[in-house]
Amino acid sequence: MAKIAFIGLGNMGAPMAGNLVKKGHEVVGFDLQQANLEAAAQRGVQAVASAADAVAGADAVITMLPAGKDTIAVYAKSGILEKARKGTVFIDCSTIDVASARAAHVLATNAGMLSLDSPVSGGVGGAEGATLTLMAGGTAAAFEKARPFLECVGKKVVYCGDAGAGQAAKICNNMILGISMIGVSEAFVLAEKLGLSHAALFDVASTSSGQCWSLTSYCPVPGPVPASPANNAYKPGFASALMSKDLKLAQEAAAVSGASTPMGALAAQLFALHNAHGASGDDFSSIVKLIRGTK
Ligand code: NAD
Repeated sequence: MAKIAFIGLGNMGAPMAGNLVKKGHEVVGFDLQQANLEAAAQRGVQAVASAADAVAGADAVITMLPAGKDTIAVYAKSGILEKARKGTVFIDCSTIDVASARAAHVLATNAGMLSLDSPVSGGVGGAEGATLTLMAGGTAAAFEKARPFLECVGKKVVYCGDAGAGQAAKICNNMILGISMIGVSEAFVLAEKLGLSHAALFDVASTSSGQCWSLTSYCPVPGPVPASPANNAYKPGFASALMSKDLKLAQEAAAVSGASTPMGALAAQLFALHNAHGASGDDFSSIVKLIRGTK
């Protein structure tokens, strides 16, 4: 079994690290927050006092951090690239901007490491249950070395292409998701105005050309899909703040690449407005309340 350094043991990182322990790996972890480090230790992670201490003798180094600046800070300033063995695979599972992901690849490969960006989808539930989807970008050699570890934390692992391709796949997917949730919400609000029941719209659209994941798995009104957060006072789920983050990353990437994404831009604005109204901690499907004009 392998030795894995895990840096960033928050809502996602702690259960992912715990699943690597369950699969028999030795996991050495570090987090800036002592409470998170202690909680990870309850899952069998060996807590150490610095990121550099975690990577000594590791076969893989996994980071699960809030944003691009955090990944770059850990790669460039914590000493992990100096302390790790040459040829170690560095896997950044954080959701970050494509430019920072590519910069992290350059830092790691210049230090003689294999490097992969591998953001995840599936939320805290997927992290707990090891059912995440992972989307990886980097060389084929980095992917093959990382794959057994990624398979310990997820049920589906997709190789997307070169450096940054995993992050690109993640923000493109979540831009579809943000836009489609607004579209489904608008349809339910229009149905309400027209006197059409939620159940009737759902029965028709879920088996017609309006069918999509936002409708059939995450329906924004209570009733049609019992497991959707709408039935649980919009408890996340996938927080509106995180949807905003991903839509903003998509807009940054669109600006840099010259892609025209007018619906993505509008979705980013609507979720920012929704969060400004106090919904950042609610599931993102609560955007239906903004559309309807209700609290
Ligand atoms: P979180 O804030 O709960 O955890 C991040 C952890 O990183 C914190 O414990 C923090 O102390 C630690 N950290 C920050 N800087 C550090 C440093 N320099 N050294 C060591 N530790 C450091 O966030 P999260 O919900 O676990 O999300 C992590 C990443 O996963 C984010 O990029 C997020 O967008 C992405 N993501 C989250 C979800 C979700 O549902 N929460 C779903 C998919 C993807």
